[in-house]
Amino acid sequence: MMKNKLNLQDISFLYTIAIFGLSMVHISFALLGLGCYVGAVGFYLVNKDKTWCTKICPRASFLTKTLSKISLHKKLPKNLTHQKVKSFFVWYMGLNFFFASMSTLMVALGRIDGLLHVRLFMAFQAPFTLPQLLSLQLPEFLTHFSYRIYSMTLSSTLIGLVLGVFYAPRIWCAVCPVNTLSVVKKHATS
Ligand code: SF4
Repeated sequence: MMKNKLNLQDISFLYTIAIFGLSMVHISFALLGLGCYVGAVGFYLVNKDKTWCTKICPRASFLTKTLSKISLHKKLPKNLTHQKVKSFFVWYMGLNFFFASMSTLMVALGRIDGLLHVRLFMAFQAPFTLPQLLSLQLPEFLTHFSYRIYSMTLSSTLIGLVLGVFYAPRIWCAVCPVNTLSVVKKHATS
């Protein structure tokens, strides 16, 4: 009997868990979160297909694993997948990256102090602090950047979880900037 080929997405949820779990050991592990963004864009640019989304994406894997048994599968409001909503998330993630990068540069240049805590949805200080089990002093700009990447990853994961509980585990994919941008690029090149 032929064995089913392993789909990396069956286990890649562990990567998402590792990002959040290891960030409690030391915030620098949050930089693993960059792998999700770089991987998605890199795979798309190289393969020009959805290999990342269908076979690898740790976020989609995590949402599927955590929500498949509890999602309420409510009827999807039409507005949720409207182009304006998708564009909002493209801008939201783009601005997030921009502010994270620019503020890191400013911290590195000594112009501003690092923001060494988690912020949710760019604006709100999280009502918790991450335990840091490993006391390792890194340059302030790197710690700042790690907290920014952690904040982005946590915020977007929370949005995915909330949407997923109501509608479908992977409903986040419908508004995910990677999806939106890859569709736009495909149309532009076809
Ligand atoms: S659309 Fe976004 S969240 Fe969904 S599989 Fe692709 S990269 Fe992952």
